[in-house]
Amino acid sequence: MANIDKNALYNIGYGLYVVTTHDGVKDNGLIVNSVMQLTSTPLTVAVSISKENYSYEVIKNSKILNVNCLTESTPFELFKHYGFQSGKTVNKFENSTFPRTENGLIYLTENVNSVMSLKVTDLIDLGTHGMFICSVEEAKTFNNNPSVTYAYYHKNIKPGVKKQSISGWVCKICGYLHNDEILPDDFICPICKHGASDFEKL
Ligand code: FE
Repeated sequence: MANIDKNALYNIGYGLYVVTTHDGVKDNGLIVNSVMQLTSTPLTVAVSISKENYSYEVIKNSKILNVNCLTESTPFELFKHYGFQSGKTVNKFENSTFPRTENGLIYLTENVNSVMSLKVTDLIDLGTHGMFICSVEEAKTFNNNPSVTYAYYHKNIKPGVKKQSISGWVCKICGYLHNDEILPDDFICPICKHGASDFEKL
């Protein structure tokens, strides 16, 4: 195998999105970065989701989802709310009164510039993740505020890690601290579900 500098992968451009769903009883939402338009005729979008996420099973069963495009104004609190806790144990929309698109799913109204309602047409099994291939059923644009990129999130939104005297490994995605010298290869961040390759040694 040729040399692989995993940092090179961080140079792929990504956005950040809240994917909203409904499990039959309650609304749910999670943060994803892997969303891309595949074709324009017909309009096809792919969304990749870790099987560790509750939303994976929900989307697999319901076959519908909304992709809410986050803007640079998004506070870290929103990433924590949707990204760092699971819909398995938390109702992320308790007592909230968000509007809904025609498919009945919630869409966000703050810190977003658009929403698209997707219908799953295919699911590709990628091992740790599933890639949902979707048709676009509805789409709205709310404003022209710039979409937040993953790079912008890392530079301007995510709080910095204080290096002090702590030893161990830190998750480059969410800042979770693994307080041990040894990080197993198959380690999965308990907060954001990213793997060992997204950790760096302190
Ligand atoms: Fe993490």
